[in-house]
Amino acid sequence: MHLDYDTLIIGAGPAGCAAAYDLAQAGRRVLLVDRRTFPRPKACACGLTRKTLDALRYSVEPVSERICYEIVLQQASDDTSKREVKVRAKNPICAMAVRERFDAFCLAQTLAAGRNGGSATLRKIEHITSIDEHPTHIVLTVATATGPETFTAPVLIGADGSNGQTRRIEASLRNSGEAQSPSAPHWYEKGFALEACVPYSALPSSLPAGDAPTDLVFDFAPLPGGYGWLFPKGDHINIGVGAFAPTADDASTQLKSVTRDLLDQYTQHKLGVSLAALGAAITGQYLGMGGHAYIPHGRVLLTGDAAGLVDPLTGEGIHSALVSGQAAAAAILESIEKVEETERAELGAPSSPTASSSTKVGSEASKIATAYARHLQPLQQTLAFSARAARAFYRNPERGFRAMRNPLLRPLILKTYADGLPHTKLITALAKFV
Ligand SMILES: Cc1cc2nc3c(=O)[nH]c(=O)nc-3n(C[C@H](O)[C@H](O)[C@H](O)COP(=O)(O)OP(=O)(O)OC[C@H]3O[C@@H](n4cnc5c(N)ncnc54)[C@H](O)[C@@H]3O)c2cc1C
Repeated sequence: MHLDYDTLIIGAGPAGCAAAYDLAQAGRRVLLVDRRTFPRPKACACGLTRKTLDALRYSVEPVSERICYEIVLQQASDDTSKREVKVRAKNPICAMAVRERFDAFCLAQTLAAGRNGGSATLRKIEHITSIDEHPTHIVLTVATATGPETFTAPVLIGADGSNGQTRRIEASLRNSGEAQSPSAPHWYEKGFALEACVPYSALPSSLPAGDAPTDLVFDFAPLPGGYGWLFPKGDHINIGVGAFAPTADDASTQLKSVTRDLLDQYTQHKLGVSLAALGAAITGQYLGMGGHAYIPHGRVLLTGDAAGLVDPLTGEGIHSALVSGQAAAAAILESIEKVEETERAELGAPSSPTASSSTKVGSEASKIATAYARHLQPLQQTLAFSARAARAFYRNPERGFRAMRNPLLRPLILKTYADGLPHTKLITALAKFV
């Protein structure tokens, strides 16, 4: 049977583009569908840690607006000497970009990628109508401005973020199968964050809470289970508040504490300006979490926020989106290569990528899911560690600040945030500290 593409990808954000880039570079034909027209705004402070920059397949220097070498960590404390810890590094900790431009840049790199007949194509859709899983392939039906369209491929990647449709459809596909998977989306949890942009030109000559306008600030004072932030860009500060790791039993109550009023008050407290008076837009979005417990299944692979892969300790999600997109691509390529190897052995002759080998990959669906689970495991292990660390830290931030004030632990904590240090090293050091 002829299939239209080697892979269908829903969502052209960081996760979808990362998967599409690797597949196209490896000679595969990919269709990306997205319901937005790019460039499109997306609520995100777009702090790109060192590990995020390392995971990207190309330099994002053209859209990087600032490089930060220092992080300022703040907490509520009556003792002013305990309110702040500054962590400085010789190497850049984080690059600052504006998400709309970052995503448009990554998409352009992805659409220009493609070797040996491989390519990534983007289609604007209205919404997904259905995803049907057949014994050898997926049939995706979408609504477009000009009517319904149908596409086929052996595998589909769900990269449509925290509010996407694929996760829910994938859950219903699983549940209609003979076995109820233990990983049906009860594992999926949500964080919530709001942000706004304040131009440097609107700031008073000195900031009321004593911050410098170009400080990269994580402030754990304004709400439990999350933080407020100041992320300095080229011509503005991205200011926000987010709840990532609920400390209350009722997580939804805690997410509801992240309000426009809270952000406006926080902006007045930190920057001395009113968002309402500035006419600044406040935007927000849920963040997908809990994905350390996600178990891939069948021919629909979830990635990024759709798979709940945001780090619950830091709220960072672009790194996980890239790594999971690349892991899905690696699993698909591995499966295709195995089929082609078998074909070569059977025919006794070399073969090039063909649609027929893709069709055979479709019949190997459980193997693709297993391969994806294997490629995803290192990230999931790190996120499971982060989930435990987040519970401990947000219940008692002072304990975490004590660790950060320790000169031996501080560089390790910084390295874990910036580079994704193997967590066993950090656990050993923390255990010694405790
Ligand atoms: C306020 C805020 C601040 C943040 N700050 C940071 C930060 O500084 N650093 C960091 O690393 N992370 C940050 N994050 C998290 C980060 O934004 C996400 O983790 C990241 O965007 C996930 O990438 P993704 O590709 O999985 O999904 P997304 O970036 O959400 O992309 C999903 C894509 O799918 C499309 N889509 C959605 N539904 C459909 C559909 N039904 N059909 C077709 N297409 C669809 C969307 O249009 C979008 O293009 C922040 C999040 C928020 C909310």
